[in-house]
Amino acid sequence: MKKKIKIVLIIVGTLVVLFLIIGGVFFYKFNSETKKMHPVATGKIVDNIYAIKDDFVNMYVIKDSNQYVAIDAGKDIDVVAAELKKLDINPDMVIAVLLTHTDADHVAGVPLFKNAKIYLAKEEEKMLTGEKQKIPFVSNSISRKDYILLEDKQTLIIGNENSFSILTEGHTTGSMCYQVNDKYLFTGDILSLVDGKLGPSVKFFDLDHEMATKSISKITNLPNVEYIFTAHFGYTNNYKDAVKDWKE
Ligand SMILES: [Zn+2]
Repeated sequence: MKKKIKIVLIIVGTLVVLFLIIGGVFFYKFNSETKKMHPVATGKIVDNIYAIKDDFVNMYVIKDSNQYVAIDAGKDIDVVAAELKKLDINPDMVIAVLLTHTDADHVAGVPLFKNAKIYLAKEEEKMLTGEKQKIPFVSNSISRKDYILLEDKQTLIIGNENSFSILTEGHTTGSMCYQVNDKYLFTGDILSLVDGKLGPSVKFFDLDHEMATKSISKITNLPNVEYIFTAHFGYTNNYKDAVKDWKE
């Protein structure tokens, strides 16, 4: 009997130590990767586009007369609410949220936007149903069930804004880029931007890094784009220069 207890204790002890090591490595890697990110400060950045900074992530808001379209929804609902307030943006006036994907740092503010329709890629639903998971037993989730699914290369007219969806899978199953009014491209997490040049996404956070890298080629040849807005690496007003040297 005593021997059995000893064996059980050894097994449990080993599992606890393993769990702590894996957890420790994960948090160390998470912190070191997010420290390299450089989102822009909350504020108006160009024309009618505003950035909202929430720790290491940006969401964006496009002003359309007296209403707004949001790209993503931040990682902390209270931070998003406070930052929007600084800009005098009433979340009730947001009529649409275009989600680049459904990772937790992109959807937390969704409940703030009660009057908005929520859009995401059809393929991204696999991340919500648990068909695809980045971490075993952990699915993505959003607070709304009435989201609208978008196809690849779908044009959407919201107010006066014209949005074209480009499926760029890899970071998640349905990572979507949005080309808004031809010249503004919102890329979510599918790429990095360092010194004005495109780079690959952060492998540690990708579901399929190879596929994510391949997907970048889908957005490097868009004739009318002038700006790229990323979720973690700021933005550039020189699309041509950013994509010029990109190689898979
Ligand atoms: Zn992200």
